[in-house]
Amino acid sequence: MPGLVPPRGGLVSLDELVGRLPTVFANPGTPSFRKKRDGNRRTVRLRLLPNGAQERLLRRIADATARLWNELNYARLVQFREGGEVDFEGTEHEFYHRYKDRLGVNAGQVINLNNWMWNSYFELSRLYKQGELPKFYGKPSPPGFWKDKLLGKRELRILVRNDRYYIEPINGGEGYIILKDWGLKIKYAGRIKWSGKQGTLVIKLEDNRWFAYLPITVGEKPAKSNPKGYVRGVHDKVQIENPKGGNKAFIDVGLNNLFAVVFNHGDTAILIKGSTIKAEYYWWKREIKTYQSVRDWLRNHGFESWRKYHTYYLHAVYKRRERLRHYYRTAIRFLARTMHEMGIDEVFIGYPYLVSQDNGNEFNTNVWWFNKITRWLGEMLQEYGIKLNVVNEYGTSKQCSICNMEHEKGRVKRGLYVCETTGIKINADINAARNIAKKVGYKTPTPKKILSYIVTTNGIKPITPKRGQQPRPPRLNPAQQGQGRGSSPLAISRNVVTPTTSSTIGRSKFSFLSPAASDIIEHTYTLAPMDFACLSISSHVGALIRARPS
Ligand SMILES: [Zn+2]
Repeated sequence: MPGLVPPRGGLVSLDELVGRLPTVFANPGTPSFRKKRDGNRRTVRLRLLPNGAQERLLRRIADATARLWNELNYARLVQFREGGEVDFEGTEHEFYHRYKDRLGVNAGQVINLNNWMWNSYFELSRLYKQGELPKFYGKPSPPGFWKDKLLGKRELRILVRNDRYYIEPINGGEGYIILKDWGLKIKYAGRIKWSGKQGTLVIKLEDNRWFAYLPITVGEKPAKSNPKGYVRGVHDKVQIENPKGGNKAFIDVGLNNLFAVVFNHGDTAILIKGSTIKAEYYWWKREIKTYQSVRDWLRNHGFESWRKYHTYYLHAVYKRRERLRHYYRTAIRFLARTMHEMGIDEVFIGYPYLVSQDNGNEFNTNVWWFNKITRWLGEMLQEYGIKLNVVNEYGTSKQCSICNMEHEKGRVKRGLYVCETTGIKINADINAARNIAKKVGYKTPTPKKILSYIVTTNGIKPITPKRGQQPRPPRLNPAQQGQGRGSSPLAISRNVVTPTTSSTIGRSKFSFLSPAASDIIEHTYTLAPMDFACLSISSHVGALIRARPS
């Protein structure tokens, strides 16, 4: 399976169709594009528990929503193919009126999202024609349809405008979502962590379960016209704690070691092993492949039972994503808490340089996961007041963190790096993490104490020193001063970009780095308007890399 597991820093890939979807590149590190409140956006996922009648109604609404999307998108696609242009206003008017009886003003939300997707597509096409998109990215495509191509069935989603619903909690773990336009009061289960102003609600059917994605601008008061548009959760501020010190951490992301972390203030390193994730990933991968081939065989031979296998296949794809999500979030939560305990106030994470570049689709899916992980880490670190930066990882795996040379045969086997000059052996991912530190001008002591952990279904377990022991953040003096920077701080602040969860609706832009920053990555996200980040069509993330090997 070449390209599946990138040699370094790569992540697992998904079979999701992400490569063909339109994307917009935004540069969240550019100050002018960062609105303060964007960092305060969070999405809460709630499980909906509709009764039979409610479920049938939800299906009808979702089907009408998907129909609106598909019909509108089709009309625009025809216009575009025939005349090279889209009449946004005309189509908007036509379809809004066609659907407003069934969907009310919520029809406008669907149209807005479609507008956004088309604008993204035009923006990307322009960049593509100017040769500003990386080659591996491929040609952009117009927005797709909400439809399962094999079954020809519409994908069920509902968008609800921020003033057309409200939440009525019963207690911390359940309550009701009231959808005003359809007279629905549906029970939900789930903890609402954040308080703040609510955005466009997205309701989705996932693996035959209904979920509501509730975007919240944490701490923001609702508009006077919509006083009920305020969600009450646990925290009304994203930052819950303050950093305990001024130390820096450097992280290499991988598959064998999910995270290899070194610090500027001590000789401890942390490894979070990914073997569970990897095993589970391959298990689902095999399941998916099996169902897929049985399905295709049946389908090609005219057996109707292929539909059953298609359902199994979709279930497996869903399960894999959910399981990986769970593992990653568990690991990230632990890592964030640990780094907080260690007095970290700034984290640098290596951007896997052109992971599996030769395979466009694999690249996109790897990047998709990397960006998700980065976003989760950034969000969790934000709760502790810790800043996250992304650094181009190019060359960090080949370079020797001990003697600074590049040993062609440095990586003797998976997981081990041997310095040919000194003969010192070092964990390859820790070597890469140390090089990330070097890249942004920090020195890290050679790690003497390595704390290894493994992610399990029930949380993080230490591998050392004792099995079964409750994981506790390693004790290090948070006040301990780190070693100084090797290069000028100015260069660092210019070269490092800070990922944010900012939405860049209508203001997307692709910008190049200054030549001085040529070896640092331009880390870019594809961002849907934050309210829609839960839709696979738009949570798809593209990263654009302009890192010249130095
Ligand atoms: Zn060396």
